[in-house]
Amino acid sequence: MQYDLSQTEDMIFTITASNGSHNTVEIKDHNIHMLTAECSNNLCVKQGWAIDTALPIVCLPNNVVIVISRNDITKENNDYDAITY
Ligand SMILES: [Zn+2]
Repeated sequence: MQYDLSQTEDMIFTITASNGSHNTVEIKDHNIHMLTAECSNNLCVKQGWAIDTALPIVCLPNNVVIVISRNDITKENNDYDAITY
């Protein structure tokens, strides 16, 4: 799944992890964070808003990773931040 954060409306969606647990992700003002998570330590929630492309939001217990990637500026489209998980 991939979103273009620069064009994504505010939204909340749920990821079902491979172990059956759920992670709820919120996109607001083109930023993203883990809202809630059914995991043992909730470190992913405590990470807060993703501000750095080099620092993905990781939920280790559920094996969920949210990566913020910046498009190659040499491509036809302007660069933008996107997320994948
Ligand atoms: Zn977690």
